Amino acid sequence: MDIAAERIERLHELARAAATEGDDDRARYYVRLARRVAERNRLTLPRTFRRFTCDRCDAYLRPGQNARVRLQNGHVVITCDCGAHARYPYEE
Ligand SMILES: [Zn+2]
Repeated sequence: MDIAAERIERLHELARAAATEGDDDRARYYVRLARRVAERNRLTLPRTFRRFTCDRCDAYLRPGQNARVRLQNGHVVITCDCGAHARYPYEE
């Protein structure tokens, strides 16, 4: 794993920890940093990162706290508090 990928992994951990503590602003800050590192290094963000972050407001999503999760026709639909929806095929 190269340094940029490691940094993204670390920022992901920090975002998750901040979100768990209820510090959404700090979580957003780490999410944005991780996105920037990925962009600059032309890396794809890990799938778990993409699934637990909001594309619109960069929040780190915690189902039951700042996000709702529903199953719909074999898809997982995550709705952020900002109103953005994300749909994924139900696999795992
Ligand atoms: Zn959002």
